[in-house]
Amino acid sequence: MPIQPIRLFGDPVLVTPSVAVVDFDKELRTLVADLTETMLDAPGAGLAAPQIGVPLRVFVWDIDEALGHLINPSLDLSEELQEGEEGCLSFPELRYETPRAMRVVAKGWNMYGEPIIVEGSEMLARALQHETDHLNGILFIDRLSKADRKEAMKEIRESEWFGLATDAGINPEIKVSPHYTFGKGL
Ligand code: ZN
Repeated sequence: MPIQPIRLFGDPVLVTPSVAVVDFDKELRTLVADLTETMLDAPGAGLAAPQIGVPLRVFVWDIDEALGHLINPSLDLSEELQEGEEGCLSFPELRYETPRAMRVVAKGWNMYGEPIIVEGSEMLARALQHETDHLNGILFIDRLSKADRKEAMKEIRESEWFGLATDAGINPEIKVSPHYTFGKGL
């Protein structure tokens, strides 16, 4: 299975909590492969299964030139916070200052059903939090300050892609401007 269309904000699947993976089978490994391929093509730094219309607790990342994936994650967050801008592949071109924990210890499983622990700080910690939020139907705009969220909603309403999301997930391909790839979406 190849690259999948990425669901845009407005698609109900993005605000629906995903369900835990039960079967660690070939289908799951295909899903991880599809997510990885779709993320690299975008290009993005992370991608969660609901972003390609699959409501399962699975996500992938590409941080510091290392690919990873995690299934049925649970996170322990540091009290120390980090600052920085964040974007999301389901919100083309948007980037906002998004507070996150500085360090994360994530527990879950790999695609072969083996328990794994992923420890990350800074960008990896940010990605693990962003993607786990996706599995709970939470979007990065939900994490913004009240003023930024208002500004973000205005930017969304004025964007070329707003209103193009459909229940069927037939989103048009969105061309993002070259500068955007500097700060890849998640
Ligand atoms: Zn995202």
